[in-house]
Parts: sequence; structure tokens; C-alpha cells
Amino acid sequence: MAEGDTILRAKERLSDALVGQSIGVSAPNPRGRAAGIERLDGRTLAGINAHGKHLLFDFGDLVLHSHLGMSGGWHVYGRGERWRRPRTSAWAVLSGERSDAVEFGGPTLRVLPASRVAIDPQLARLGPDILAPELDLDDVVAKFRAADPSRTLGDALLDQRLTAGIGNIFKSEACFAAKVDPWRPLADVSEAELRAVLEAARDQMLRAVTTGDRHRFAVYKHRGPCLRCRGRVLHRGQGDANRTTWWCERCQV
Ligand SMILES: [Zn+2]
Repeated sequence: MAEGDTILRAKERLSDALVGQSIGVSAPNPRGRAAGIERLDGRTLAGINAHGKHLLFDFGDLVLHSHLGMSGGWHVYGRGERWRRPRTSAWAVLSGERSDAVEFGGPTLRVLPASRVAIDPQLARLGPDILAPELDLDDVVAKFRAADPSRTLGDALLDQRLTAGIGNIFKSEACFAAKVDPWRPLADVSEAELRAVLEAARDQMLRAVTTGDRHRFAVYKHRGPCLRCRGRVLHRGQGDANRTTWWCERCQV
């Protein structure tokens, strides 16, 4: 599942492979053709920006916007290298001088005018990126303070309008690290606790960007007793979208 750390890693990999080059763009799968991505064929890729779970490819006055959701992915292949998925399932192929970046699946793949990015409904509402190099944590805490106080913490952490980039994994892991129960309503979460949870999410995700390790988690999909206190680790769907939260019933209070 792509959270902010995966997206930042993808951005770095894709940038190394393609930025500054004239890009051949093709859409083997009809979904890519429907998105009109072939309009970008032959343009120079000036840069790639990541914001939360979104990637924005800067092709001058046009921007390619991708959001991978639960199932989408970007692969980078050397020219001639065998792909891990069939060509017909590729929504977008961006071909640089030596490599191909291939996008499969996901909820969003579209081309929009660069002038619309700042006012686009999907993008303009995004809160500060939890992985932004100069994140103003006070600003993020203030957004949580201004949100509906009856919302539970775990649900609010996924609200990309409050802060962008946190998904199910780091929602669960950050609450565990800060020893805060994700089921508490925001009204009952102190500013210090909120800060601790957000800092934990940022620290853990930045570490995951560096190491690429997204397999060893303390509580997310953890079976067996809590690694910290031997209490029971529970999981249950949370919020309107019923996204599964994992937590320890004993040491997260
Ligand atoms: Zn515990």
C-alpha cells in the first residue's frame, strides 16, 4: 500500500531515471489512453513533485497526476529488462533515454494544465505533507485542533486535508509508538500527545524512505502479543471508510 514514504521513494527513483529527458509516452492499457496521457509524448520532464500520496510530473504547461491508492504502482525498468507485469496492464509507459517507468493501476491517473494544479479540488485541499523537509508541526497540530473534536484520532490521521501522506500502516504504528489509543476522540487527545503521534509518524516514515523497509512493523498486521507489554493486539475497521487500525489494548491509553 502506497503511503507517503513509498511515494517519496518512487519520486526519487523516477527522477533519477527520467528528469531532464525527452520522454516517449505510451498507454498500452485503455485506462491510460482514456486519461489522455499520450498528449505528453515527446515533451521534456522538468521535474517530479510528491505531496502526500500524490505524484505530479512536471511537463511544462501540462502535469501528469498519479495517485496509486491501495493497489497501484510505479516500476522502473532498464531498457530491455523483463517487466514483472504484462505490458497490456500498463496504464502509462514513460520512456527516457535508458529506462522505462511503468504505471499499473490506481485510482488516479490524469493530465491537467499546470495552471490548474493550485485550484484543483483534489490537490488544493491537501494538508501539509508529513514528510515535507521544513514541516511546520505547529500548523499541523492546529489543523487537528480545528477538526471535528468527536472524530477519533485514528480516523483523523488518515484525513489528507489535515496532513497528507499517512496511511493505514503509519496511522497504527505512530499511535503505538506514542502509546496513544487511536480510538480516543480528538477532544480527549492532548496537544502533547498529538504532537508525539505526528512526530512518530514523520520519523518512522522518513526512516522507511531511507531504508525501504516496510515489512517489519510493531503493531500493523502483528499477530501475537504486544512486543512492548505482552498485552493483546487488536484490529478493527475505523472511520467512515472502515480502514483497519491495529493497536495494543493495554499499553495504548
Ligand atoms: Zn502493549
